[in-house]
Amino acid sequence: MRANTAMKFRLHPDRMQAERLTSWSHTSRAVWNIALAQRIWAYRSAQRKAVRAVAQCAELTEARREHAWLRDLPAQCAQQVLQQLDAAYDNFWNPAHPARFPQFKKKSHRQKITFPGQAVRVHKVSRRMAQVKLPKIGWVRFRLSRPINGTVRNATVSRDGLGWHVTFGIHMPELEQPPVNTGMPIGVDVGIACSVFVSNEHHERQRPDTIVEDEQNRLRGLEQRKARQLTYAKKHNGGKYSNRLRKTIGQIAALKARQARRRADWNHKLTTDLTKNHGMIAVEDLKVRNMLRSAKGTIELPGANVAQKSGLNRRIADQGWHQIRRQLEYKTRRHGGVLVVVAAPGSSQTCNECGVRDPKSRHGCGRLFACTACGHTEHADRNAAHIILDRALCTAGWAGPAGSGSTRPQSTRSPQKGRGTLTGSRMREPTSSVTAT
Ligand SMILES: [Zn+2]
Repeated sequence: MRANTAMKFRLHPDRMQAERLTSWSHTSRAVWNIALAQRIWAYRSAQRKAVRAVAQCAELTEARREHAWLRDLPAQCAQQVLQQLDAAYDNFWNPAHPARFPQFKKKSHRQKITFPGQAVRVHKVSRRMAQVKLPKIGWVRFRLSRPINGTVRNATVSRDGLGWHVTFGIHMPELEQPPVNTGMPIGVDVGIACSVFVSNEHHERQRPDTIVEDEQNRLRGLEQRKARQLTYAKKHNGGKYSNRLRKTIGQIAALKARQARRRADWNHKLTTDLTKNHGMIAVEDLKVRNMLRSAKGTIELPGANVAQKSGLNRRIADQGWHQIRRQLEYKTRRHGGVLVVVAAPGSSQTCNECGVRDPKSRHGCGRLFACTACGHTEHADRNAAHIILDRALCTAGWAGPAGSGSTRPQSTRSPQKGRGTLTGSRMREPTSSVTAT
């Protein structure tokens, strides 16, 4: 029985508990770094040994006898860190997974402690509040913003710019077999000018700015203050951070955390709406990391228009495309639908009436698509959303809800060439071959 969903709540530790949690998070980080260094060292040694969590857990027990700071962190939490490191290695070796080699964690890394399910207990205090029992710390209150309908499999205590949180990994039996979603298939185009365009809608869905102007100004002021304080620290304190600098960093983190929260909120509402009402959702396979990487270029190949591109990068990062994609993935599964990922190239230059691909169809920088072959004009992102849907229908051979074959929209457009992958545990049998990308 594995956790198949997660729920995050605001945690309210008292001062003593917060101090201990902070200390534990740094110990967890130290365990990660030491274990990673040991693995790298063992692999580079003459024997080329691959060290796994089992061996390191035994050594951990030894080390806990010697060091009081290590002993203070509950043994289960340290063991969880080693298992996470195993998972990070597995992901790195898995060719289908995009993970890079596990990284060492800096002091400024997100504070986080993981507890296994058997180490924690959850108890409801009132309609709004509940408490979780953590080893050695005891009961810690958290705000029960929604009911927990399932079995708690693990708990992660973390901290961001706005405070402490607890995330429970939860097993919910009803998520295992949701009924098949019979909603109309749609294509979704994500962009910068228009946040999201859905193929069967006439207007884009525009996300409001995640940061208002006052906050923007304040953020700029804080960034300047941080830079000034950093220079001072380097010049007069040998690089040692002052309390004022720490405070500034905290204020910046709080603003950014609030911004991230607004973005996630909008994304969640969008993806819940789409996955509830549609049986198949098609999206482009955008390699967000590659798009972000290309700004500065490398030393051998310096990028062009660096400043312009880095401004664009900030806006790409602010869209949270990866977040939307990840949410669509698990929510389609949860609501009995299918997510189809199609290849991206040319989707914005191809006409959805006649299928001719021509970069000139996107004349100028406006949001208008004007086909050079057939004269068809449409909102460019709506056109792209249709192309994405077409590609998905071609590659997946999708035959309508439960294979009835009747509700597939009658498309007069010529089939597009494209490759795609199907995700989702309850995918229907594709009739044509599906190529993995
Ligand atoms: Zn055309």
